[in-house]
Amino acid sequence: MTETERHDYDVLVIGAGGAGLRAAIEARQRGLRTAVICKSLFGKAHTVMAEGGCAAAMGNVNSNDSWQVHFRDTMRGGKFLNNWRMAELHAKEAPERVWELETYGALFDRTADGRISQRNFGGHTYPRLAHVGDRTGLELIRTMQQKIVSLQQEDYAATGDYEARLRVFAECTITELLTGDDGAIAGAFGYWRESGRFVVFSAPAVVLATGGIGKSFKVTSNSWEYTGDGHALAMRAGAGLIDMEFVQFHPTGMVWPPSVKGILVTEGVRGDGGVLKNSAGERFMFNYVPDVFKGQYAETVEEADAWYTDQENNRRTPDLLPRDEVARAINTEVKEGRGSPHGGVFLDIASRMPADEIQRRLPSMYHQFKELADVDITAEPMEVGPTCHYVMGGIEVDPDTGSSSVPGLFAAGECSGGMHGSNRLGGNSLSDLLVFGRRAGLGAADYVSGLESRPAVRAAAVDDAAAMAVAPFDPAADGGSGENPYTLHAELQTAMNDLVGIIRTEAEMQAALERLGELRERVRGVVVEGHRQYNPGWHLALDLRNMLMVGEAVASSALLRTESRGGHTREDHPGMDAQWRHRVLVTRCADHGGGDPVVPRVVVEPEERAPMRDDLLALFDLTELEKYYTGGELASHPEQGA
Ligand code: FAD
Repeated sequence: MTETERHDYDVLVIGAGGAGLRAAIEARQRGLRTAVICKSLFGKAHTVMAEGGCAAAMGNVNSNDSWQVHFRDTMRGGKFLNNWRMAELHAKEAPERVWELETYGALFDRTADGRISQRNFGGHTYPRLAHVGDRTGLELIRTMQQKIVSLQQEDYAATGDYEARLRVFAECTITELLTGDDGAIAGAFGYWRESGRFVVFSAPAVVLATGGIGKSFKVTSNSWEYTGDGHALAMRAGAGLIDMEFVQFHPTGMVWPPSVKGILVTEGVRGDGGVLKNSAGERFMFNYVPDVFKGQYAETVEEADAWYTDQENNRRTPDLLPRDEVARAINTEVKEGRGSPHGGVFLDIASRMPADEIQRRLPSMYHQFKELADVDITAEPMEVGPTCHYVMGGIEVDPDTGSSSVPGLFAAGECSGGMHGSNRLGGNSLSDLLVFGRRAGLGAADYVSGLESRPAVRAAAVDDAAAMAVAPFDPAADGGSGENPYTLHAELQTAMNDLVGIIRTEAEMQAALERLGELRERVRGVVVEGHRQYNPGWHLALDLRNMLMVGEAVASSALLRTESRGGHTREDHPGMDAQWRHRVLVTRCADHGGGDPVVPRVVVEPEERAPMRDDLLALFDLTELEKYYTGGELASHPEQGA
């Protein structure tokens, strides 16, 4: 067996974003020896970038809010494809998780009477996002790091060792999950990014909290970590992914200059009063309210503007329609020649409030535009356009425990699927991380506590993982074709952006799968220069395996779903089809345990979604449900025959 550093834990949490940290806190609080592993620096997870806030129906700003309203908004935003049990747990538990964060030391912005302030966001009926200016994710991570340090202090007092029950392994990338003879989780294999040395973790439970997939697309708001590792690791271990066709393109990314294209412009700008305009100065969103939302949004500029100060008597502005609707509208405006000079549209907050208020409410946005684009957002409009932002699809999990179909494998946060259906509402990710991070930590702890014996890590599996990891250093690979990982990555990003982007067709999906097939062949010939000490080319070569698997999952699912819904728009199938609402597309490795070991092929198959519980169905009017459901599915609705 290859000589490697080894560690033994009860629970391994892979990922130190909001979901991973919350899972780790829970597992440690249940008394289990827990490791947190992250390929980033500790404290520099993607969650740090979250700006606008964390959605929770606390009712602090509008007392009409409740978990039922939040549940309804979430299901509407996801176009009724969401796993309803997850949406229910999320809406019910998010307030508790936010208040709990305050007990860890979080300091949210306050209302005049001292309660946690909440802001408006797209698709949320009431002001619902608890926030810290536009730096909410930073506060969330800071607070949970602080909680981890305080737990480590407790452990020191009890054992003399700070890391006795909770240790962080930062800048360490996991490349493979290890399973025992019976297929259950036995641990994970990875390498230290700095030294390139290998490390093996033995543990009967793994919580994947690795975040999203945005780095497979050319224009994205996502950071370098988002290479779909957890999605691919789970598939290679035998788990399934769901809803991979649903990728969220946030309507407002920066479009200029090219070096910053894709960087996010928070929805908080529109939540706080910013409006979208085309090159003619028209507030075009009034032209794009879809039938399913007719009657719920303001129809005139006057009503939309009045809503910001009087929400009881006015309907909300269509600038705050769910993200999929706004992104498509911007796409159409640009395509039809009404865009801004650099291929976006205008987002204007300068003419809507005094400069000092803009700087107070949106400090990060002010600095972002000033420093990166030399634009003063207090004096002129921003130019914005869609950017790949979030993946709704992910590892299929049990809503209550976060467990996947592989014994011992759990998932939470952006790498898991189901909660957001076909489209996530802004602010619903931070709350998702807290609610389901906690549940996955608890699920893993219960699983480990109930085990009679622990699966052993197989020596051969460790040797295979090590051989796979060093393969890019072998110049003889694939007959010595000497492929460059950066070139392959750029080609993958272009293919995903151009062919599997915001608007899709059957022909484009087929072309994408062909391109991905070619890249799959070429990735075997990837060669990296130098040695294993901090070698970003090598890291990318290993990440490419994951990005290719995930790319194929997205394109194959998008090809099969012949309708348009949420984050999946088919130009050749423009309408929603009720027959597709109750079907879920599940992606798995085609030859689990066999087939191509470098980039295993994936296969996508439809399955039936579990029908919504009657008491939840009754929270919606029949007339609304009829826009989404087949008649047979609504037979038990209380309004039937009334
Ligand atoms: P992350 O926070 O991304 O953490 C992933 C972790 O996994 C990292 O520590 C990473 O290093 C680690 N990792 C990945 N692969 C490996 C591997 N192979 N081995 C070891 N470690 C690995 N949502 C909201 O609700 N409200 C907002 O206001 C908001 N604003 C946003 C603003 C921006 C700019 C962006 C990009 C997103 C925003 N989102 C927002 C979305 C939200 O931030 C993310 O969905 C969420 O933070 C994901 O959290 P996570 O815990 O799942 O993963």
